Amino acid sequence: MLKTSTYAAPAAGKPLVPFTIDRRDPGPKDVLFDVLYAGVCHSDIHQARDEWGGASFPMVPGHEIVGRVKQVGSQVTKFKVGDLAAVGCLVDSCGDCGTCRQHLEMFCEKGAAFTYNSTEMDRKTPTYGGYSTQLVVTEHFALKVPEGLDPAGTAPLLCAGITTYSPLRQYNCKKGDRVGVVGLGGLGHMAVKFAAAMGAEVTMLSTSPSKEADARRLGAQGFALTKDDATFRKLANRFDLIINTISAQHDYNKYLGMVRPLGTMVLVGAPPEPTPVGAFALINGNKRLAGSNIGGIAETQEMLDFCAKHKIVSDIEIIPIQKINEAYERMMRNDVRYRFVIDIASLKQA
Ligand code: NAP
Ligand code: ZN
Repeated sequence: MLKTSTYAAPAAGKPLVPFTIDRRDPGPKDVLFDVLYAGVCHSDIHQARDEWGGASFPMVPGHEIVGRVKQVGSQVTKFKVGDLAAVGCLVDSCGDCGTCRQHLEMFCEKGAAFTYNSTEMDRKTPTYGGYSTQLVVTEHFALKVPEGLDPAGTAPLLCAGITTYSPLRQYNCKKGDRVGVVGLGGLGHMAVKFAAAMGAEVTMLSTSPSKEADARRLGAQGFALTKDDATFRKLANRFDLIINTISAQHDYNKYLGMVRPLGTMVLVGAPPEPTPVGAFALINGNKRLAGSNIGGIAETQEMLDFCAKHKIVSDIEIIPIQKINEAYERMMRNDVRYRFVIDIASLKQA
């Protein structure tokens, strides 16, 4: 077993504190890597506070992970010692069921092993995430980091990146499409960058007037305030596709009013509370309300390669691990531009 330093939430809603875990010794198909950077996703907050239910503690969050390979098992072909490697929300799946064969490992029929707040496929061994000095993962679930991408700015691509790239691809985002992005946070700022790079005309739909200049710099051609009811009238039936990243409860019906006939609003934001949707919000205009959950491993690699081609990384603020609880509070106050990334060197020195 490999003794590993981490930061963990000891119980629901409690501040994260230093905590030591055991990682398994790497097997023939495993990669062991030193974690360099871990992004801070709003899902880390939902889960550390047990807002979605069923959380297990102690919990080591973190599913936006970039590291340097330290050791590879005898059957590993994708990596050699010294390579950069990345891990997102998934660390294993059965590999054999229909959905795994469709490269949708997150929907593994046997239940995927998520990076934390989950178990390995033995359904016993808890998984611990990226707020830690090292990680062991079967090579299929480790991604190659293309040359030229800044490692710290790459970390958030592993969740915020793939979660917004995937629905844009699923709904065939292309040149000339009108795409609305709702909520300019970690996911939202990636959605703007990707949709703009795919040639769409992007409008940022935000509650924060102070974010307008950033939205335009990130690639949005339009910016509208959702606190102003006139926005919903002005932009009625406007968008082919809306990517909705809001982390808190809100009225989906109002936003569906901005979807054009036959268009789609995809929920990626995951507020804990259910919200009623009126049938007529969908019937009037044959509209679709959809959801999307991260992305499979092949699509995640495709997204990283797309980022290398278009020179896209996340806009980040690097923090030491000792500031993690403050970072959660700042995210709750909407004070992040646009992703916190933990420099794991701060954990090694601690
Ligand atoms: P984040 O950085 O905190 O950004 C969320 C943004 O939503 C905020 O910046 C804010 O944007 C807007 N917002 C927040 N509270 C709001 C409210 N009460 N009303 C209206 N707008 C509000 O969070 P994130 O990391 O991007 O994550 C966003 C959500 O996606 C979370 O629920 C997270 O769990 C979920 N998520 C889902 C998946 C998936 O696979 N589906 C993957 C990762 C994360 P403005 O200031 O522009 O209004
Ligand atoms: Zn995430």
